[in-house]
Amino acid sequence: MAVLICGGAGYIGSHNVFELIKAGEEVVIVDNLQTGHRKALNPAAKFYEGDIRDAEILDKIFTENKIEAVIHFAANSLVGESVQVPLKYFNNNVYGMQVLLESMVKHGTDKIVFSSTAATYGEPEKIPIEEDDKTFPTNPYGESKLIMERMMKWVSRANGIRFVSLRYFNAAGAIEDGSIGEDHSPETHLIPLILQVPLGKRECITVFGDDYPTPDGTCLRDYIHVIDLAAAHIAALNYLRKGGESNIFNLGNGKGFSVKEMIAAAERVTGQKIKTEIGKRRPGDPARLVASSEKARKILKWTPKFDDVEKIIETAWTWHKNHPDGYADR
Ligand code: UDP
Repeated sequence: MAVLICGGAGYIGSHNVFELIKAGEEVVIVDNLQTGHRKALNPAAKFYEGDIRDAEILDKIFTENKIEAVIHFAANSLVGESVQVPLKYFNNNVYGMQVLLESMVKHGTDKIVFSSTAATYGEPEKIPIEEDDKTFPTNPYGESKLIMERMMKWVSRANGIRFVSLRYFNAAGAIEDGSIGEDHSPETHLIPLILQVPLGKRECITVFGDDYPTPDGTCLRDYIHVIDLAAAHIAALNYLRKGGESNIFNLGNGKGFSVKEMIAAAERVTGQKIKTEIGKRRPGDPARLVASSEKARKILKWTPKFDDVEKIIETAWTWHKNHPDGYADR
């Protein structure tokens, strides 16, 4: 029996594939390589190049393989882009989920672990955020992921599929041997952008606003290592295998780090001074996003190993230093 990984060539998906294979799982990947990388594919996994909105390719995959469960990462995930082109997000993310669930129902696959996001909450009412807190997304990306969660909820009631939705906070870092890592084009995430400065690829890092109601005025985020995320997906899969009911879990370290603190940590890791300028606030950025992951710790017995931002940045640095142009260098 195999696990189907939708989006296994992407940043978080490829790290999950690596950890699943290490755990002895049989893995099948489907990825349209729109944002994923062929070079991020694990040779031990069976790969289908295709789009999850294409029912025919899903039919072929479910017919040619015994798919026990699905882990779903295949989605667009840029907040800013989603505000500009919301329909792209509703088409790829929401319609993609529709076709995927239809295939699962048709072929009798009854377990799905879903890559969700803190963006489903919108502006938090309190910190740390708990799973039962209000969900009021402030951008189409978060809205699309919330709709996808709700689709799974109703399909689970009607068709007996069970799901676990994992709402990640700020995914960061790379596998420790530096063989795979983060490579987005364009890059919008804080850690890779900070590290472009010591790599000589960028003059300075712009801090998006220093007038937030936080101790140093810059935004606080909860950074969680991509390998810890992978471990949570495996724990969620095993939870469903043991008959666990459909559920939603936050994944974070439970500690907020400011943009300025992240720059200082990157200076310590790289041993270089990182030139910084203060810019305007980025629209849609909440001041603080920090997770309570108590529920995942208790029910999934999940404990993040990378609980220190310097350790997280160090793994990202190993990847970027060895691959300054990302997968183009591999
Ligand atoms: N950020 C920044 N400069 C940048 C990129 C990001 O100051 O060049 C800030 C951003 O405003 C946010 C934090 O860094 O407060 C993390 O942003 P990122 O895009 O990595 O993740 P997000 O929190 O949007 O998921």
